[in-house]
Amino acid sequence: MNTPTDHVGPPLWLLAELTYRCPLQCPYCSNPLDFAHHDQELSTEQWLDVLSQGRAMGAAQLGFSGGEPLVRQDLPELIAGARELGYYSNLITSGLGLTEAKVQDFARAGLDHIQVSFQASDPELNNAVAGSRKAFDQKLAMARAVKDAGYPMVLNFVVHRHNIHQMADILALCENLGADYVELATCQYYGWAFANREGLMPSRAQLVTAEATVNRFRNQLAERDHPMKVIFVTPDYYEERPKACMNGWGSLFLTVAPDGTALPCHSARLLPIDFPNVTASPLEDIWYRSPGFNHYRGDSWMPEPCRSCDEKDKDFGGCRCQAYLLTGNADNADPVCSKSAHHDRILAARTAADHATAGLEDLIYRNADNSNVFCRG
Ligand code: SF4
Ligand code: SF4
Repeated sequence: MNTPTDHVGPPLWLLAELTYRCPLQCPYCSNPLDFAHHDQELSTEQWLDVLSQGRAMGAAQLGFSGGEPLVRQDLPELIAGARELGYYSNLITSGLGLTEAKVQDFARAGLDHIQVSFQASDPELNNAVAGSRKAFDQKLAMARAVKDAGYPMVLNFVVHRHNIHQMADILALCENLGADYVELATCQYYGWAFANREGLMPSRAQLVTAEATVNRFRNQLAERDHPMKVIFVTPDYYEERPKACMNGWGSLFLTVAPDGTALPCHSARLLPIDFPNVTASPLEDIWYRSPGFNHYRGDSWMPEPCRSCDEKDKDFGGCRCQAYLLTGNADNADPVCSKSAHHDRILAARTAADHATAGLEDLIYRNADNSNVFCRG
């Protein structure tokens, strides 16, 4: 049996969630439902200190995300700080608030990579999902600006039942824009996406059609010797074994939330665990010694069926957040697993997706008003 602190290496990936502020309202946002009650943000100096501590521990990859990280006026300073420390840095943005001048400034400051997210392949659907009439045109312009500035162009589409039929159009749009990498990421049901799961989850038939479209497109790209890479992340709700979530709790990934709360993944804030804060403890103590980060390391915490399962070194029992959301106990096996006593909850969600009729107007959009409703319970 592994003990919690066996084999703990350094965090190699640091995700800096600079802010929960965002001009968009995506109903699948991974930010906490109660983000309106977490409006504290670390200062520039505090962020630079976190980056420095992370780099000293061995972190090499850095993501700036949010919310929308562009709302932080000190972003150029943080990018320059990351470059000086030797990070490979990635800006994960909706494109709202970006300008051609900023794209160029960030390149000069040392940003390595910009990922622009889209909601759909056409302005009507994109803007309806994003909750902004200007979003699509702005995203198109900024995707082009990113390419023109010499960055690798990485486009991200979150896929759900309302846009999954657009797969061929999405891929054509990406090719027209000159994308180098396309990530088609089916919704992961945490945060706002969990609250909207019935209205977002594609049916199996939709998924099968979409996968076939993606595979056909990939074959065509190969035949034309086209370099665009397409990654399609399918929903684990249609699997029989869970994903090896975050490659294991507290093994590679360290997220720092806007207020300095340190988390083993960006969703973990929803768990009933007291996570440490970078304003109160050094990052090294947090990573190696805090109860929050050691909580699900090793396998001594596992109940059955994971405890005696010969696959536990492959998937670590799946996702703790999913176990908590679907069973009320984060120690349980991820219900995606067909060996879980709660797998019926996944089967029920699949059946519901086959019969769902909810439209875009039925979704709960991610905004401060709705967050305040969740906060009030
Ligand atoms: S998912 Fe949408 S609402 Fe959430 S931070 Fe990203 S752009 Fe903003
Ligand atoms: S029982 Fe637990 S360890 Fe075994 S496959 Fe299922 S989730 Fe993974």
